[in-house]
Amino acid sequence: SPNNFLTNSDKVNLKKWRVFLIPFFVRSHIISLADFAGLLLANHPDIELTMVVTPNNTKFATSSLDKSNGSALHLVQILTYPCPSIGPQSGVETVGTGNFHMARQGLEQVLQQHKPDAVIADVLFPWITAIAAYLKIPCILFSAISTFSMLVLDCFQKMRVRPGLLDHVTVLGLPGPEVRMPVLELPSFVLKDNTVENVYKAVLDTFGIVVNTCRGVELEYCDEFEKTQARRAYFVGPVTVSYPMYQRSIIERGGEVEGESENNCLRWLDTKNERSVVLVSFGSLCVFKSAQLHELAMGLEGSRQNFLWVVRDADQSDEWIPEEWEERIADRGFVVRGWAPQLAILEHAAIGAFVTHCGWNSIQEAIAAGVPMLTWPLASEQFINEKLVVDVIGCAARLWEGGKRSTRETEKELVPRTIIAHELSRFMEPEGEFSSVHRKAQELGPVARSAIADGGSSMRDLSRLISDLINAMESKTCQ
Ligand code: UDP
Repeated sequence: SPNNFLTNSDKVNLKKWRVFLIPFFVRSHIISLADFAGLLLANHPDIELTMVVTPNNTKFATSSLDKSNGSALHLVQILTYPCPSIGPQSGVETVGTGNFHMARQGLEQVLQQHKPDAVIADVLFPWITAIAAYLKIPCILFSAISTFSMLVLDCFQKMRVRPGLLDHVTVLGLPGPEVRMPVLELPSFVLKDNTVENVYKAVLDTFGIVVNTCRGVELEYCDEFEKTQARRAYFVGPVTVSYPMYQRSIIERGGEVEGESENNCLRWLDTKNERSVVLVSFGSLCVFKSAQLHELAMGLEGSRQNFLWVVRDADQSDEWIPEEWEERIADRGFVVRGWAPQLAILEHAAIGAFVTHCGWNSIQEAIAAGVPMLTWPLASEQFINEKLVVDVIGCAARLWEGGKRSTRETEKELVPRTIIAHELSRFMEPEGEFSSVHRKAQELGPVARSAIADGGSSMRDLSRLISDLINAMESKTCQ
């Protein structure tokens, strides 16, 4: 049964297939690959998994793999590869043009030296497929990006959209409603280099792709993707919902566990009424200017709603805190500094809405928890995800459409406090004009959860993946 895990001593004798998991450098991708590792182990304990990360990400990978907790994930080993440091934060690997490639040499060495039986690597490292082909091992890519965004980005890269030529672009040939977007809202990487093109070539060329999504949520986009983009596609998400299978603690997921303080916000939520609190959180990467944080603080105060706001480490200069604000909001606001147990928060009954930057993990966590979203995309493919949840699925509403929005910091306007206050209170009104959005979110929760339960579509895709992978490793084929 999935709950009978092997102990470390059994492992040495029984493990047969050695599979390397290679995440992209950012936290959200490391956590989702760790969740996926749990899902694989729970369903096939005979696969030996090793997560391969840069030295700077070892600590985060270790806490993502729940080393301290004795769950099944502690069976996943960690291996590091050298990676040159770039940019102003020396030694810290970050996202940006160019550094998609910088891991290549180190990973090539590690793979040659250890010769795993297969690799599962982030789609943002498309060149891994060439290394795997050289080593004659199957390579499966892992997408932490939605199927919808993958399809839309493919259209944009084929159209060769460049900045300055057009205001808007329209995607042709996709199922569902027309997708028309301002060029300002496209990720800069699609406008610049051939990173995206390389990803699509690699996906088509390699053994297959695993997408952290589920068929019930992305419906016809999964069918379209399967038909046009990959040899084999497996939709195995939402992987975050799988933690009970391998007895993982959701409270400590991905966080540097600091004892009691992590749980304070959950205890605070216990004191609030059902669906009465707005969660405000913008993922693991985005950083706000002080002026925007100040506006947001005033907007939250003006909304008169209960709120739980996660302010990232990088925003901790405190310049943004309005005078005496903390006292004024004390009875209905809670600010978490640094890393919050987001999954546990979203699943708490007191949460009634989520102001999100539309990172794909956050969206899936909200969908699975049945929480409606107010969208505030900031960068990367987040505006495309916003289109999916607002215009296609209908489980979210835009926080602000009035001013200039952009993926580029220098081109965007501040979202004003009056808008934030007004939209939040409108969104939270019981039986108000957003009640259909709330209903849609509540309906979708069970759809996403059932995908990852016994007999669900994601579990079927996972079994197919495991059997295809084992066949390929046994017959030593990489296509
Ligand atoms: N997360 C968390 N606590 C935080 C911030 C983020 O647990 O304080 C988790 C969140 O639950 C999600 C991931 O980090 O799983 C963020 O991924 P997402 O794709 O939403 O955004 P990104 O960080 O890539 O911008």
